[in-house]
Amino acid sequence: MRRVTVFGATGSIGRNTLDLIARAPQEYEVVALTGGRNVAQLAKDAKALRAKVAVTAEESLLPELRARLAGSGVEAAAGRSALLEAADRDADWVMSAIVGAAGLEPGLRALSRGATLALANKESMVCAGRLMLRTARQGGGRLLPVDSEHSAVFQALIGEDMAAVERVIITASGGAFRDWPLEKLASATPAQAATHPNWDMGQRITIDSASMFNKALELIETKEFFGLDPARIETVVHPESMIHALVGFNDGALMAHVGPPDMRHAIGFALHYPERRALPVERLDLVKLGSLSFRPACEDRWPALRLAREVMSAGGLSGAQFNAAKEVALDAFIDGRIRFTRMAEVVDEVLTRLSSNAGHIDDEFDLDMVVKADHLARVTAGEIIAGRT
Ligand code: NAD
Ligand code: MG
Repeated sequence: MRRVTVFGATGSIGRNTLDLIARAPQEYEVVALTGGRNVAQLAKDAKALRAKVAVTAEESLLPELRARLAGSGVEAAAGRSALLEAADRDADWVMSAIVGAAGLEPGLRALSRGATLALANKESMVCAGRLMLRTARQGGGRLLPVDSEHSAVFQALIGEDMAAVERVIITASGGAFRDWPLEKLASATPAQAATHPNWDMGQRITIDSASMFNKALELIETKEFFGLDPARIETVVHPESMIHALVGFNDGALMAHVGPPDMRHAIGFALHYPERRALPVERLDLVKLGSLSFRPACEDRWPALRLAREVMSAGGLSGAQFNAAKEVALDAFIDGRIRFTRMAEVVDEVLTRLSSNAGHIDDEFDLDMVVKADHLARVTAGEIIAGRT
């Protein structure tokens, strides 16, 4: 029996993870499931999978969660400290699928006690890639990528020598607005941005796909995860989302990872690693597919890509600032306080103002420094949005 814990179990990645676990319940002992406000779903899944504990991040929802779990034998807990305690429990495999910087600390806690961390939460690598890797090394834990592009790169690199890698190409669908005229982008609404041509994902990552902030986060994640020189990391728009990433080697070969847009592939790969097991994903019919297309990822349309380059070259705590500013700008866009195109301007301005606080690329930093950088960037973004400075 494998002992597993799923952070963000009620979200899009979390539910896909539970889908795979529920197909072979005899193989897993579910230690903890965590969620946010959706305690009905959380309680239902915790009961069905006989989890030891269900944790909601919302303190005020503890009575409701308790009531829903009454008599089931599943323990109920709530709040940030309960979330961290869940990470300390003895699961061997932990899915990190909380959205945003809130996912960083639970992941670090699991890594520090030697767990395998399946990392969907890309923000962890963007904010604190070096700290994640160091914590895994010191605690004896292992990090496995779940973001589809990074799982693709990881798989293409199996058995290869990193010294032979010339470049990594991360594909991007282009999101909801890839075919919109540039001048229309400023008037895009949150509802329009929250639709995705190929993937079914949480609201925040879907809007980040439309702005390409998602791809920007992924470029930084690629640098941190694989220790690549940013000059070797490229991105290309690939509207069909069938090729998730390609690795280019020094003999000119490109190894592509091809598959339908279904996160259960990357999740399942991380769940069964190092084995490859049958997964319930569609088998591609290439003839039916006909052709695959590619376009340049243009920085005029998607300024987030340029900002990602700046963050990759600055290093240090600039990733934490970038992500925090993006989260605040995204909240403001969702609430209708700023326009779609203002998000990148806000993040750009935060990075410019705080560049002297970002530290140097070679600096080692701890969680406390990341939390402070995140906080300062949130305050600064809030001031810029409110027009107070
Ligand atoms: P989602 O919004 O569907 O789910 C997020 C989960 O986190 C929910 O369970 C929610 O209750 C919980 N949560 C939210 N805020 C929280 C907080 N402050 N504290 C504790 N729990 C909180 O998001 P998602 O689409 O499943 O994405 C999860 C993560 O995986 C993100 O980092 C995203 O970038 C990454 N990711 C998602 C996909 C995808 O296909 N959805 C693909 C690649 C990477
Ligand atoms: Mg991705």
